[in-house]
Amino acid sequence: MDHLQDLKKALTDAYAQSSLQKALKTSQSKSLEILIRNHQQDQRLISTILHMADVTDNYNDPNDIDLALDTINLAKIYEGVDAREKEGTKLAYQDLLVTELLHYFKHDFFTWVTKPKCPQCHNDGDNIEPKGSSTPPTPNPDEISVVENYRCVECGVNVDFPRINKPAKLLVTRSGRCGEWVNCFMLLLRALLGAEGHIRYVWNNEDHVWCEFYSDSQQRWIHLDPCEDVFDDPNLYCQNWGKKMSYCIGFGDSYVVDLSEKYITNKDKQIDKKSVVSDLQLVPQLIKQINARKLLKTYESFRYESTALQRIYDILVMFNNEQMKISTPVASKTEAVGRQSGTAEWTSSRGEGGS
Ligand SMILES: [Zn+2]
Repeated sequence: MDHLQDLKKALTDAYAQSSLQKALKTSQSKSLEILIRNHQQDQRLISTILHMADVTDNYNDPNDIDLALDTINLAKIYEGVDAREKEGTKLAYQDLLVTELLHYFKHDFFTWVTKPKCPQCHNDGDNIEPKGSSTPPTPNPDEISVVENYRCVECGVNVDFPRINKPAKLLVTRSGRCGEWVNCFMLLLRALLGAEGHIRYVWNNEDHVWCEFYSDSQQRWIHLDPCEDVFDDPNLYCQNWGKKMSYCIGFGDSYVVDLSEKYITNKDKQIDKKSVVSDLQLVPQLIKQINARKLLKTYESFRYESTALQRIYDILVMFNNEQMKISTPVASKTEAVGRQSGTAEWTSSRGEGGS
């Protein structure tokens, strides 16, 4: 028996080591520079993807995690989990916890902003007219990407809506659109699942973001849309909202993965990728480069631990399993009612008002 265990460990370690070797070779080659140089016309897409490659690092600050746990009503979330367990459920504890966090986040914690409220009359309807945007302040501790400018025509007051990216700041402002929602939710998710939990940010090229976590009991990545309080419904966008999409890409701690097939579940809703990128090989090649670097970075973070190679092996197995399963279709659970977050006018202007 010991002999078999030794053999298993030797094989596991060898596989992890050879994958690390390959990753090292890939990252040391000039491939990324060449890729960027050869795709000048795709600069926007390339820089977006590179910019998000390590987005989950934004949720690792221990102070932010403590602040998150202090800010949310944990008792309420755990009460919700207890109630569901008493009702009887097939979901495991971790899945229930995430379900309750989603529910709490949408209904008790965060608010949607289509247009900001006037500070004087407190209305955010037709009285608020857009007046363009301005650049973020310097210094920019809240990581504001842009400041949207509005004016209340009733009161003659200017209203700014800074688009904040810093997750800890969002624990205070508790409002925004999908970017702010997902950013803040990811921090809470990390805080609740702990350092061992796997989370990832999902970016869509047609102006939406959501996220996923890895369910230990179901052994798979589960779709979460914090804006909609939706758990595990990858058909939400194409079949429910009727949204057309080109790319959906998942950015995790250890690897990046093209999730377009998982989320673009209706062929009619697939925007021709050739209309957004000059070369269909660009995204897979870019992801390969990023993943080589991420695997090495992950290994560096625990290389002196005795289980380091085993952990690399586990990540590779997770990645490979996912590659095989990604196109497995899942039946839609929700009715085609369209998007719930945002006003009807706003959602229909985005082509998300239902199929
Ligand atoms: Zn006003």
